[in-house]
Amino acid sequence: MALTYLDQMDLEGKVVLLRLDLNTPLSKTEPREVTDSTRVDRSLPTINFILENGAKKLILCSHLGRPKGEEKPEYSLEPVATCLAEKLNQEVVLTESCLDRGIKTMLGLASPKIILLQNLRYHPEEEKNEQNFAKTLSEYADIYINDAFGASHRKHASIHAINYYFKGRSAAGFLIKQELEALDKIVKNPSSPFVAIVGGAKVSDKIKIIENLLPKVNNLIIGGAMAYPFLKAKGHEVGKSLCSDDDLKIAKSVLNQASASKILLPTDHIVSDSLDGKAEFCNDTNIPSDKMGLDIGEQTIAQYKAALSEAKTVLWNGPMGLFEKADFSKGTMAIADYLATLNDCFTLVGGGDSVKAVNQSGNAEKMSHISTGGGASLEYIEKGNLPGIDALRFGVDL
Ligand code: AMP
Repeated sequence: MALTYLDQMDLEGKVVLLRLDLNTPLSKTEPREVTDSTRVDRSLPTINFILENGAKKLILCSHLGRPKGEEKPEYSLEPVATCLAEKLNQEVVLTESCLDRGIKTMLGLASPKIILLQNLRYHPEEEKNEQNFAKTLSEYADIYINDAFGASHRKHASIHAINYYFKGRSAAGFLIKQELEALDKIVKNPSSPFVAIVGGAKVSDKIKIIENLLPKVNNLIIGGAMAYPFLKAKGHEVGKSLCSDDDLKIAKSVLNQASASKILLPTDHIVSDSLDGKAEFCNDTNIPSDKMGLDIGEQTIAQYKAALSEAKTVLWNGPMGLFEKADFSKGTMAIADYLATLNDCFTLVGGGDSVKAVNQSGNAEKMSHISTGGGASLEYIEKGNLPGIDALRFGVDL
């Protein structure tokens, strides 16, 4: 069943409830401000379309952080409301709670046109996918639009249960459309050669994606702390590098798979005494017992570039090293720079830290697609669907 999109809806005179992922990074000190507005910016086409196509009122809702069902001021959406008002050049009124009695009164007034509901996760019912909570939210609006791609892998009330109350009156927004079209290029018939680059710190978080990708890719490049359990499983010395017993076990089982020969691992490293130590070269696959690997070395960078040179599809999730520190960022930056030079290749970057790294490298514009949802994009690649998208498409039974 095809997904209905926002531009297929009649919005004239309607109150629209729009679920967004406005979970943006904020400054740690007062006055809190949005420090990276990517998620706000990527929501603007949907917001503007609704405002320009006759909607009477627009009610925005989102979660922010993990307040765990409590009203914690540090998770207030207030900085996001300010950011939105500036970008839209319009008043955005933030409610005290998403369950405020005053919301219905406000809906009867001519202004404000845009209302932002306070953090949905101030209420435990949101994460419990509670029916009554979803029902209360649904009573504010005539139409429900989900454009919260980054939260659509969650079975939460504003993403999932709410669909029960909007049968035939719901649609997906333009960010979801863009994300699904990009991810489908990876999920369905990726152009070959297809190379996946998986990095970051925890093997257990990414094991499913590795197992799922291995049969489909021509090469699977592994970097970052992810590499050490694999190197150790192959009998190499990894010194003090991050390498838990659980990750080692997982790495061993992956290496036993038939397509394990597609996996590329580092052959040299940038190492140090500690996470805060001085950078040193290690020109061998084996790492001395008193050192930890914190980045891939020059020879590895060259090998990885060679593996990427002919690629027509590249998926990148996770940095090649401790890229937040300049001394250990060269591998990650070299991969970002190289991907930016690939012609006629679909490059998709997903996952918070790789997105941060690509932004840091200045190459964001040159990637084919940067996903706003790390967990959601990985789950979509793994399963080919997401609970929030399926709920929009097929409805839900409660
Ligand atoms: P993840 O959330 O699993 O993608 O992990 C990202 C984090 O892994 C980043 O903060 C990186 O700095 C960190 N990281 C990557 N490589 C290493 C490494 N070799 N040692 C320690 N941390 C690393």
